[in-house]
Amino acid sequence: MATLLGIANNQKAAGGILLTLEVPATPMRDQAVEAGRYKSNLWHDKDYPKIQLLTIEGWLSGNERVNASPQLSPFGKAQGEAKPQKQTDLICTLHSVLTDRPTWNPCYAGAGSWLLAYRSAKCAFGQLRPERVNVVRGGAGAGRRSASCAIGQEPKMNQKLIFRILLGLAFGCCLVSAQPARDSTKTNPLNKEGGVTIEYIAHACFRLTSPSGKQILLDPYASRVWLGYDFPPGLHADAILISHPHYDHDGGEAMGRKVPWPQTTLVLRHPGTNQIGDVTAVGYAGKHADPWGKEFGQSNTVWLLEVGGLRIVHLGDNGPLRDDTVRQIGRVDVLMMPIDSQFHILKADEIAAIRRELSPSVLIPMHYRHDDLESVPGSPEALGGIEGWAKGKVNVRYLDTYTNRFSLNTLPRKPEVIIFKHSPLVRPAK
Ligand SMILES: [Zn+2]
Repeated sequence: MATLLGIANNQKAAGGILLTLEVPATPMRDQAVEAGRYKSNLWHDKDYPKIQLLTIEGWLSGNERVNASPQLSPFGKAQGEAKPQKQTDLICTLHSVLTDRPTWNPCYAGAGSWLLAYRSAKCAFGQLRPERVNVVRGGAGAGRRSASCAIGQEPKMNQKLIFRILLGLAFGCCLVSAQPARDSTKTNPLNKEGGVTIEYIAHACFRLTSPSGKQILLDPYASRVWLGYDFPPGLHADAILISHPHYDHDGGEAMGRKVPWPQTTLVLRHPGTNQIGDVTAVGYAGKHADPWGKEFGQSNTVWLLEVGGLRIVHLGDNGPLRDDTVRQIGRVDVLMMPIDSQFHILKADEIAAIRRELSPSVLIPMHYRHDDLESVPGSPEALGGIEGWAKGKVNVRYLDTYTNRFSLNTLPRKPEVIIFKHSPLVRPAK
């Protein structure tokens, strides 16, 4: 009991549920009452017990229920277990029954078109781990507006705020003395287990590989223009996304270069929604950071990739974001943002503002000087390295590789900056 309470407090969960095989003894029930209650600001300011005791038998039979605000399925995917035990099997059954149970999920039936789900807790041996808020399309004709209808109480709130409230409501579930649900992915439609690989080519260019193997190349640069190094030849991509027609983002297309991709490749440059296999690429109209890009009206497409349950955003060379763009983009898990120690594209305060507005779990800097690729001092002109900016920041992690796999379940709990090595395919010009 103390462990559960401690974990719930540590993880800032609203509370915890203790499932027991036996009927809990009186001292245990007293302790649960003493733990107090939590108030749901979202749900009519009602309050609910912080710690709840349920027997598995009671829960399965429907005689006992979790008394919590109706914030939808709070169950995260469980960890696998090496040696299945009897109790684990029982809990597996319980888990699948619960996740299919409509009474558990009033907004599911009521709101119709969207299911807003908070995957609040990972249940395993007292290890309570808040997951991410996830929005899943549940029917036809739905837009983001419907997401706020789903919870119905605060129609004026923007989506981010709703997420924050749901986060606050998060009800932790802790299953005692067994690791639950070995195979809950099969019963939980919210689990998007396939990871997304992000590969840093160099400068502002990344390649993403989706769970099904689709490859998306973002902002390929022209060889040896401003940047002193070459673009790697023969890089496969199912689609190429370009933020704006500058040579360090469009493969040299606008300057009349032969582009480094086959003619048949799908190239997307403009705002709109596109489906590439299991990747949804949504372009938002933005504005290139001042003072550059006047020759093409400073247009810059900010790309959001919805893939494997993740929301990955590449800013291109965008300047400060408009409020409506921030709202439209919504939740951001991974953000690629132009950052360098000479603040070539964005100023320090602009970097901080965008980071605050989009609050990505992972920030990946791009568009900075790679010392090992540039042999001429002071070149490229006015482009700094990344170390100078990263030095004063918390939770900065330098990878010793150019690829990293991301998934919803492994996103860091505290916002992190990840600095990639550039691809080994990129070599200094000889
Ligand atoms: Zn640029």
